[in-house]
Amino acid sequence: MGRMTDAAPLSDAERIDDLLSRMTLEEKAGQLTQFFYLKIEQSAEVDLDSIPEEYRAYVEQPAMVEAAIDRGATGSVLFVTEPALANRLQRRAVEETRLGIPLLFGSDVIHGMRTIFPVPIALAATWSPSTIELAQATAAREARASGVHWTFAPMVDITRDARWGRIVEGAGEDPVLGAAAAAAAVRGFQGTLGLENVLAGPKHFAGYGAARGGRDYDDAEVSDSELWNVYFPPFRAAIDAGAENVMSAYMDLNGVPASANTWLLTDVLRREMGFEGFVVSDADAVRSLETQHFATDQADAAVRALSAGLDMEMCMFDPASWRLPQAIRDGAIAEATLDQAVGRVLRAKLRLGLFENPYVEESAAARVLNDPSHRARARAAAEESFVLLKNDGATLPLDAESLRSVAVIGQLADSRRDTLGPWVGEHDIAETVTILDGLRRRLGGAVRVEHEAGAGIPERVFPSMFDHGDGDLEITPSDYDDDAAIGSAVALAAQSDVAIVVVGQRQNQIGERSSVSSLRLGGRQEEQLQRIAATGTPVVLLVMAGRPLDLRWADAHVPAILEVWYPGTAGGDAVAATLIGDVSPAGRLPFTWPRHEGQVPMVYSHNRTFKPDEQNARYFDEEGSPLYPFGHGLSYGQFEYADLRVDRSSVAVGESVTVSVAVTNVSDRPAGDVVQLYIHQRSGTSSRPIKELKGFERVHVPAGETAQVSFVLGPSELRYWSAATRGYVQDATTIDLWAGGSSTATLTTQLEITP
Ligand code: BGC
Repeated sequence: MGRMTDAAPLSDAERIDDLLSRMTLEEKAGQLTQFFYLKIEQSAEVDLDSIPEEYRAYVEQPAMVEAAIDRGATGSVLFVTEPALANRLQRRAVEETRLGIPLLFGSDVIHGMRTIFPVPIALAATWSPSTIELAQATAAREARASGVHWTFAPMVDITRDARWGRIVEGAGEDPVLGAAAAAAAVRGFQGTLGLENVLAGPKHFAGYGAARGGRDYDDAEVSDSELWNVYFPPFRAAIDAGAENVMSAYMDLNGVPASANTWLLTDVLRREMGFEGFVVSDADAVRSLETQHFATDQADAAVRALSAGLDMEMCMFDPASWRLPQAIRDGAIAEATLDQAVGRVLRAKLRLGLFENPYVEESAAARVLNDPSHRARARAAAEESFVLLKNDGATLPLDAESLRSVAVIGQLADSRRDTLGPWVGEHDIAETVTILDGLRRRLGGAVRVEHEAGAGIPERVFPSMFDHGDGDLEITPSDYDDDAAIGSAVALAAQSDVAIVVVGQRQNQIGERSSVSSLRLGGRQEEQLQRIAATGTPVVLLVMAGRPLDLRWADAHVPAILEVWYPGTAGGDAVAATLIGDVSPAGRLPFTWPRHEGQVPMVYSHNRTFKPDEQNARYFDEEGSPLYPFGHGLSYGQFEYADLRVDRSSVAVGESVTVSVAVTNVSDRPAGDVVQLYIHQRSGTSSRPIKELKGFERVHVPAGETAQVSFVLGPSELRYWSAATRGYVQDATTIDLWAGGSSTATLTTQLEITP
């Protein structure tokens, strides 16, 4: 940085101005360009003649990116996750380009880098912001040691449609839980923006989770009131927590593409939420403004995205942003608009210290990635994430002393790849502990633990984006003999003291491009479960999934059901410890679990026309209730709630009260619980939902003891956005409050809000 030698150090703003004054228009457009770096070619020398014509561009892509780096035509690269490669590319940018501006390396570090934590929906099910923060701080440490500066996470999209595959990447249906999870993840990733931190990029702004019919990338039509009250709060929380980046969504929001939507990217994000960082588009979202029937051509796409408030374009080939210099010469957009965006990108690089520390220490990576404390954290997070959906009180925990034989049934029970879940990069598959491994380790030689893969899990009808690359994809072979496999599974279960049956979906059946039209268990998993239950052997059902599935039969017939999600590297140990009772499950559902897909979308927090007993809103052919309510989860302990109090029974609009409740563990074992506070306001400027979560705290309570939990309820909790006034209001009204261990809590009191 030319003039910085002896004079007083320049401020970030001065350094940015200095750089801008020396950059060409092409170099500026380069800073707004982020290229994928296609890994296919990172290792091998490829004979181009042997590659079919249509794949040539992919094979040649890395060389194209490197040439762009050399001429300062790209400011960021994604999917470079290997220290030596990161340093090699960085050296070209820093030491061999005219201005030496460092590259920013981004990647999808979603639930761990090498140590894989439970998937984000599972982390949300801990209802423990400190657990989420520690998980993402650990992921950041491993990512930074691998050369990554920035993660495209957390995904803070509210998800209310179980058909949408990306439900697994978010924190579920609720804006308050979603906001807490978003802020915790941002704090974890970014820390102090030091050498063990990465920039966080909450995504996908905004409304992506509302894709029509749960079909990925379909358009979203969301009312303003739902945007402000449901979809925006997690973004606002992430920004308040200091998020340096935001990723814009692919789809049209109410008819305008999110990545070129001025209202979203400027009015809401910057003016209303005060975001000062840089916005990146989702992959190729600027280029696709043309196929979205919005932009006339690529130059128009670049101009309209930039004018709307987008800064950086993520893409694979031929960035639209490279048209910006010509557009400026043509007068289609002002250079000052370009400078503003470039300034934001440079500022992120400065804040991360990349000008001073552009390189990663190659020799340190292995030590960080193999840190045993990271694996211990992943295990603890998994234990906290499991949700005990059902337990007859006698089946779980298992009594390790009296067990002689355990049947472990299901392909997912011994699949390392599926145990990790989607979006895993530099994991070490070999060290992943499956459920079978975990039970064997925990129960030792004295108990016979045998496995049958049983019912096959049918493949997708089109490939997943998580199918390639690893060479470790678990699949059911096409000649798989389901009859024989189910027969063996049932026979093993019949001769065992207990059958632990694992059902669910493979990791490539959830996530991006993984919408489903049915929530039924794939293949003959349910039939197998019925036949195992018919043997009379007690059954424990484990659900490995990232979305609710149709468990109507299981709920009616199986004594114990535990949701284990995709539990990550140490998942099997965590499952075994929970089944045996070394730990008591205390996870809670971050979404309403419907009975079947016909009820979707189903949320606990909805508005209603008639009185509750009139049941008008129910289907005549199905129960009106969900299978499991939002916030549900059982424990091996037992909790009683008492003394729900508000410190003042009446306050004026704008004032706050403290709400407290006593939670007693009346069982004889220590256990965790998630204390939840819900409200409903009886009248107002707008109609309000029948119930809304306003506070929660995960507590650990020793046997026989009582925890006092309190929450503040004030204007920030009670205000909402009203379509009647098109702005935030807080009403004078009567508020009903409930506290308990789920959204069906019954302990109640009232609060008067006066004008
Ligand atoms: C996804 C983003 C992701 C990006 C880069 C896109 O297809 O929607 O969530 O960050 O790819 O991998």
